[in-house]
Amino acid sequence: MTRTTLVASLTVVGLLCLAADASLFGAEYLSGIQWSEPAVIDPGPPGGPPSDAVVLFDGKDMSKWDKAEKWIVKDGFVEAGPGAPVSKDVFGDCQVHVEWASAEEIKGEGQGRSNSGVFLMGIYEVQVLDSFGNKTYFDGQCGAIYKQHPPLVNACRKPGEWQTYDIIWKGPKFDAEGKLVSPAFITVLHNGVVIQNHFQLEGDTPYHRAPEYKPHPDKGPISLQYHGNPVRFRNIWVRELQDVAHERVAEPSIRK
Ligand code: MG
Repeated sequence: MTRTTLVASLTVVGLLCLAADASLFGAEYLSGIQWSEPAVIDPGPPGGPPSDAVVLFDGKDMSKWDKAEKWIVKDGFVEAGPGAPVSKDVFGDCQVHVEWASAEEIKGEGQGRSNSGVFLMGIYEVQVLDSFGNKTYFDGQCGAIYKQHPPLVNACRKPGEWQTYDIIWKGPKFDAEGKLVSPAFITVLHNGVVIQNHFQLEGDTPYHRAPEYKPHPDKGPISLQYHGNPVRFRNIWVRELQDVAHERVAEPSIRK
């Protein structure tokens, strides 16, 4: 087939598709749901923060956190120290952006190399660890949901390089009696790579026992772990996620 014939054939196919679409223009599916207009936001520069984010750390101070007295801010980042910072703000379902860097100088091995963690609702840990050429148990390596699920791949950058976590969190829901109604789900991108894909959590993430759900409010803080190892953080922000307001005003239908 010559190029000219190919182009002509594709044009005919295109016109036929348009004709088929045109025949459908007379009918339209209507969901019967009246949606509010999605809010207009400014996504901000690469890495954010978007205009609707709560900025928890912008490189200047840790005033948005409790228990951060021994975390030292300098040169636009914060260096982990004794204590586990807990955000003063609490969040339900949310998107969390965190940047972190393991120590440039390699010390220790396994769980002892820049071990830290990002805790959703102060309870559920996404492991932070230097897993660049550093083996440990897989459900405890960098990006693991600690003791529950390893990352789908190891997307770690080299020691000392800045790395990103983008976490999409759907928290567990409990009824008035404290019974679990809906478990937690988490998606995590590490350096832009999906490493947790809508994973369903079995409960909390301790080292010493099986995970379990204990009832808690629908909102909780973000917290960071100090495990005795050097690790740095910067550019931490959170967006609460809510569905677009809507109401059903009719049954689904086809308008002709
Ligand atoms: Mg940890």
